[in-house]
Amino acid sequence: MIHRWQVIILSLAGFLLLRAANFTSPLALNNRQAAAKESRAAAGGAVGKAAVAQSTTTSKASPEASSRFYPPDPLTLRLIIQRLLSAASGAKVRGRIFGLICPHHGYLSSGIVAAAGYKQLTLPIKRVFILGPVHQKGKVSGAFIPAIKSYRTPLGEIPLSSIAAKLSQQPGFVAPPKGEATDRSIEMQLPFLQQTVKSFELVPILVGQKVEPTTLARQILPYLTEECLIIASSDLSEGYPFDQASSVDQKTIKAITSFDFKTLSSSEACGRASIATLMEIARQKQWSPQLIEYQNSGYTTRARKQVAGFACLAFCGGEKVGGEKLAPQASKNLKTK
Ligand SMILES: [Zn+2]
Repeated sequence: MIHRWQVIILSLAGFLLLRAANFTSPLALNNRQAAAKESRAAAGGAVGKAAVAQSTTTSKASPEASSRFYPPDPLTLRLIIQRLLSAASGAKVRGRIFGLICPHHGYLSSGIVAAAGYKQLTLPIKRVFILGPVHQKGKVSGAFIPAIKSYRTPLGEIPLSSIAAKLSQQPGFVAPPKGEATDRSIEMQLPFLQQTVKSFELVPILVGQKVEPTTLARQILPYLTEECLIIASSDLSEGYPFDQASSVDQKTIKAITSFDFKTLSSSEACGRASIATLMEIARQKQWSPQLIEYQNSGYTTRARKQVAGFACLAFCGGEKVGGEKLAPQASKNLKTK
């Protein structure tokens, strides 16, 4: 059985090797020689560890959700995250980031976009809310908190905040469905947080069907402090040709940066309800939206017939930002050809 993280690692290894070999990417490397050296080390390590890990990954009878989305070896995972954080570019935000919209597709295709936001976080951050869509089969009606006490990734354990249990009692929250305890929309964000925020408590909220963003925002708002971060985990369009995806995603990004809830609600972003909840919180807190980075999978995989779109946007406080001017790097990627 091939685990999803093995696909990710093998793909990332290939990606790093291709980049080391002057693969044309929208992301410029500062030092190609050093990058090539690092990439060979990362690729070799990742493949070797993946082979070992195949026989050691077992389900654990513990309250923690152990992940299937990344390698079990901490050194390999740390190297991947560090590599993404150092390679990521995108627009520099103004003000302090209180909210982030980040993709969760996979570290090869969307990790570089997520990293562009994570590398700009202002510390300290003591509590992180992650709102993510439910991808499992069978529709879940309502929001839920995974029935676990902590998450465990290869980089360590992340305790759930006591706020999670309090929220789970609120109207609109339902019991976690049987089977999947959690979802990649939450788990793909965790190693980034462990690498950048380090120590924090987590409030993971899985957002199913029929969740009312205004209500959910109202339930979260009393628990927000100056040392909180809210992440809305979402990919954008999926399955369009390269150029068309840019155009479809541009419409979604414009809806987010202009607080156009109606247009967003009919968008193809899998986490549109999570994004709308963050937008409502940002509206009430007067946080300003800023686009940090946009790419679709065609940039990294070179497969351009059908791509998935990814954006990283921040909601910042502390400094008023006028308009919705797109960052040069991000707007270049959004241009249709
Ligand atoms: Zn998704």
